[in-house]
Amino acid sequence: MALKSALSVADAVPTLSAGLKAKVAASVGFLRDAVRDYAQVIYASSLGAESIVLTDLIWTQVPEIRIATIDTGRLPEETLGLIDRLERRYGQRMTVYMPQAPAIEAFVATEGINGFRNGLAQRQGCCAIRKLEPFRRMLAGRAAWVTGVRREQSAARSAYLVSEIDERYGLQKISPLLDWSADDVWTYIRAGALPYNPLHDRGYPSIGCAPCTRAIEPGQDERAGRWWWENPDSRECGLQPRMRPSPTP
Ligand code: SF4
Repeated sequence: MALKSALSVADAVPTLSAGLKAKVAASVGFLRDAVRDYAQVIYASSLGAESIVLTDLIWTQVPEIRIATIDTGRLPEETLGLIDRLERRYGQRMTVYMPQAPAIEAFVATEGINGFRNGLAQRQGCCAIRKLEPFRRMLAGRAAWVTGVRREQSAARSAYLVSEIDERYGLQKISPLLDWSADDVWTYIRAGALPYNPLHDRGYPSIGCAPCTRAIEPGQDERAGRWWWENPDSRECGLQPRMRPSPTP
């Protein structure tokens, strides 16, 4: 597909603050550095709010970076619709990785169609089949991957570097939005009228598979709607280190 727009929001919207424009410029610089320094850079899009910013920056400024995501087979219709809306806006195609059918069939044969509710091991097994295995395939052969993590999301992430070795997967990890706030992200999305998941407007700050995500109440931890039936300590899918809010000083 041909690239439809070569202008990022930062170029097209003069009303962005100088501070946010500086963050945009820095983020684009980090992405360009990654392309210069590493072969086969891939952006693993979660399709969350940060992904909208990175998709805009990559497809308008650094299209050498391949954008990929995972369709677990249990995503909300709104998330699948977002992939389509992004592709139409930019005239680009992202690579969609899917789980291996035989592994899902075996899991369902043993545990049932909603077997992830049978216990923690089964839930983690489902995430391993539907998320981790496609994710590892996505990273195979790459020298670097891009993430949308931000420092303020958790104490663990506050210590991240923009570019660091990812021991877990054995390649470089680039985090161009580390210094962005949630407000920066949404200011950028709204300034550019960028497509985003409509579930964000219905109380879903964090969106995963449909049966494992629900809306939260105001003031709740933004991950409270994920695997809500489990002990909070187990609520992760394994793709990223656990996300917890930064402790308040
Ligand atoms: S989030 Fe739920 S449905 Fe999706 S892979 Fe994990 S357990 Fe399975």
